[in-house]
Formats: sequence, C-alpha cells, structure tokens
Amino acid sequence: MEHFDMVIDGQSVPAENGAVMESVNPYSDKVWSTVAQGTAEDAGRAVEAAHKALKQGEWGRMTASARGALLRRFADVLAKHTDRLAEIEVKDNGKLFAEMGLQLRYMPQMVHFYAGLCDKIEGTTPNIDRPGHFTYTRKEPIGVVAAITPWNSPLMLATSKIMPALAAGCTVVLKPSEFTSASTVEYVKLFKEAGFPDGVVNVVTGTGAEVGAALTSHPKVAKISFTGSDYGGRTVYQAAAQDFKSVTLELGGKSPNIVFDDAIMDDAVKGAISGIFAASGQTCIAGSRLLVQRSIHDEFVEKLLDFAKTAKLGDPMAETTQVGPITTPPQYDKVLSYIDVAKGEGVETVLGGKASDVGRWFVEPTIFTGVNNKMRIAQEEVFGPVLSIIPFDDEDEALSIANDTIYGLASGVWTQSMNRAFTMANGIEAGTVWVNTYRAASFTTPFGGYKNSGVGSENGVTAVNAFLKNKSVWINYGADVPNPFVMRIG
Ligand code: NAD
Repeated sequence: MEHFDMVIDGQSVPAENGAVMESVNPYSDKVWSTVAQGTAEDAGRAVEAAHKALKQGEWGRMTASARGALLRRFADVLAKHTDRLAEIEVKDNGKLFAEMGLQLRYMPQMVHFYAGLCDKIEGTTPNIDRPGHFTYTRKEPIGVVAAITPWNSPLMLATSKIMPALAAGCTVVLKPSEFTSASTVEYVKLFKEAGFPDGVVNVVTGTGAEVGAALTSHPKVAKISFTGSDYGGRTVYQAAAQDFKSVTLELGGKSPNIVFDDAIMDDAVKGAISGIFAASGQTCIAGSRLLVQRSIHDEFVEKLLDFAKTAKLGDPMAETTQVGPITTPPQYDKVLSYIDVAKGEGVETVLGGKASDVGRWFVEPTIFTGVNNKMRIAQEEVFGPVLSIIPFDDEDEALSIANDTIYGLASGVWTQSMNRAFTMANGIEAGTVWVNTYRAASFTTPFGGYKNSGVGSENGVTAVNAFLKNKSVWINYGADVPNPFVMRIG
C-alpha cells in the first residue's frame, strides 16, 4: 500500500494529528493508497510558509527572468514524470490513461508558456495631466494563493492555476480533492527537484470542509482560485467576501451542443459522443444537452445510437477502453438518481439507462430523447454519461433553448453555414463556443464561465492578471504642494 504525505515548506509531513484517508481505485474498487488527512492547523502552517516565502524568502526578491528560468526547469523535470503521474491519476479517478497521459504530456508546454510570460509583466507610465508630476504603475503579485481543485483532471487544473500564479510572482497552497490527492502530492515534490525555494508551492491534503474552509478563511490568503461544483463555489465565494479576497471560480455546466440540418453529420455524431461519453461525462464542459434540428432529428439520433452502442467500457489503463468507471461513490449514486429523475419526467430511454455490469462503479452510456428543456434532466448538472436530446426548429429557437439555463460554460455548433456559425457564436451565453468541434482545449486560449459557471477565467496570457495587483506611484518633482483642504484634480 502506497502512502502520500503533504508538502509544507519543502518538507514531506503527515497531518499534525496523524490522520490518514484512503484512496479507492474506482476500476478495481480497492483501496490502493493512503493520504495524510490534513487539518485546519496544517492549512494554517502551509499558508504561513507560503507567506514567508513570498515576503522574506529569495522568491520574493528574485528577478522575473530568474523566476522564468525556474519555471522552465520545472517543465523539464515534469516532462520526466508524466506517465508515472498519469498512472497515479488513473488509479485515483478511473479516467482513461489515454486521456490523462495526453494531459500530462501536454503540461510541460503549458509551463513553458507561463515561464515565458514571467518577464513580460509590465507596468505603465500614464501621460499624467499635472505639471511637475510623474506617475507609473507596477504590477505586483497579489499574495498567497489558495488553489482548490476537483477530482476529474487534478493536475491539468492545478497547473492552470499554479503556473500563472508563479509567473505573477505569487506563492501557492494547493488543496486537491480528497478523492484524488496523490498525483498532486507527487507533482508538488517536483518543485524541490527543479530548485524552487521551500514554501513557494505547498500542498495540504484533506477535506473541503476542513482544509478548504481553513484556506478560504485564512487572513494571509489573498486570492482563491477554485475549480469545482457551483455549490462549492458559492461556499468559497461567501468565505472570500468576509475579508474581500480576490476569487477565480471555475464551476459547472449544462452545455448545449447544437446540430443544424446542414452539419456534416458524421462529424457532429463524433462531437456529440465526445461531448458526453468521453471521461464518462465527468467533465465540466460536457455537452449534456444535444439540440438537434427537427428536420434531421430521427436520422441523426439513429446514427448517434449506432456509434454510441459501440462504446467499449472497461479498464481505463487498456488502450481499447473508451469509457471508464464513475470516479466516486457519491457521484455514481448521483448519476443513477438523475437517470431515475429523467425517467420520472417522461423521457424516452433510447440507450442505457442503468448501471453497467462491467464493474462496480460503471454506468451505461445513456441517451434520452423527448426531453423538454424545462425538465430537471435538462437543467441540472449530472456529471455522468447521460445525454438529453432536445429538438428545435430554427436558429432563434436553438438560441433560446441554449441560453435557457443558469449555466454558461461551453457550447457546440455544428453547421456549414458561416452566417449561422457567427450568429450562434455571438448569441450563445457561454465562455466557450466550439464550431464544428467539441471539447478542444489549449492553455493559449482563455477559458471561463458565464452566469453560474464561474467568475473570471483561466488560461491564455490574461490568466496572469488574476494574480496581480496594480499599484500607482506618484512622484512630485517640483510642483507646489497645493491647498491641503481641496483635492487637486487634473
Ligand atoms: P466540489 O465542489 O465537491 O469540490 C471541489 C474542491 O473543493 C475539492 O477539493 C473539495 O474538497 C473542495 N471543497 C469542497 N467544499 C469546500 C469548502 N467549503 N471550502 C473550500 N473548499 C471546498 O467539486 P467536485 O465534485 O470535486 O468536482 C466536480 C465539479 O467541478 C463539477 O460541478 C464540475 O462541473 C466542476 N468542474 C469545473 C471545471 C471548470 O473549469 N469550470 C473543471 C472541472 C470540474
């Protein structure tokens, strides 16, 4: 049995009270490792270490280009460990090795991208409208960052937070999901190997209620970067409001994937499948509402079923497997309960609709037709391999159904008409619109949610701004100091 301790101030440490929690492999249904179950006190120690590293250590005094060089070294170290880390992720979350391996092998490029930005963070020299004065602005690191991640893509999501934070010069305390902590612990150890000073990147494992809450209420945490459920996001936002911490929230979705009658049907079928059955639907960007133009509805559903029926469930490490298990027992129960909800709402089950006998935590790829967008199955995030198909007549109706949701994370449009593509891309209320593709992602391009899907965004050059504060400096180099009772403007 493997065991993973936390990393605080560069040291591997157990929880202060010695508590551990078990990690279960969702494919084998066996405990494969234990992880330190940190406490609020451990979280506090990690924040103090990160604060000291920022304010007193060499990290805070390092030049931006030296910081970039360290990040590049980390990318090289990470590149040597990608498959090992991907295997750990698969043991924890049951997603395909094909996908986790791809994510891990892509990550060093993301690190290089942010390494390159370190020395391109620049202030400004405003054209000040007052004689004898000079002003300039500085972009300073916002402070200690608490980065809180979910279980579906632990390291990809952690890297999206840590790298822009480090590029900005911040220090970080990571809190991975209690279901998938091991890969994050191993990842954080690599910072020491790359030569990072102690305390710059720390990881505290444990529950959201204890460690997460301790981080989000700690007065020395300046910024919370959270990815998870909208319930979790709301709790974090409320905690952050107590002392006005800055937040970035990446939350859930109920994304529309819209197929028009002029789409290339075979491509749209693949897009619909990747939208909902990849990662067993356990992805925030799942295209869980498939809107199909009525004129092609029956033909499209038939083609989709032919493809979906071939999906191979099984061992996520096997190259031939296409759909793995559900990651956690509560998530498994949730998916099955939503299948019951949908059936109770009168939908037609045209595929699956029950647990699979492939393994303990598998759910059959499920497709419902006859779904009305007002139904709970069309409004609430399932986070599983459950697709709701909703017919529509024209662009206006497609847009109105697409936007009739509290969420706004992602969307897909399948059409060969350029006019339609632009009209839909402009009209859909979501942070990402994919046209003739789905579930494409890149660190180069911002990603974030509208409405209840989040606050702020990650990825791209602009992600660094979320970890910076603007400071304005005023220098009077010779003007008279004016009447002290009247504010001088201009
Ligand atoms: P979750 O909200 O249950 O947990 C996410 C993280 O928050 C975990 O580390 C958890 O321990 C922590 N947490 C829970 N309560 C907390 C609290 N009170 N204070 C601080 N931290 C707390 O989410 P999950 O079930 O792990 O992940 C699935 C959800 O994540 C889905 O809703 C999915 O859509 C969303 N998600 C969003 C994105 C995105 O980029 N928008 C990406 C992946 C997943």
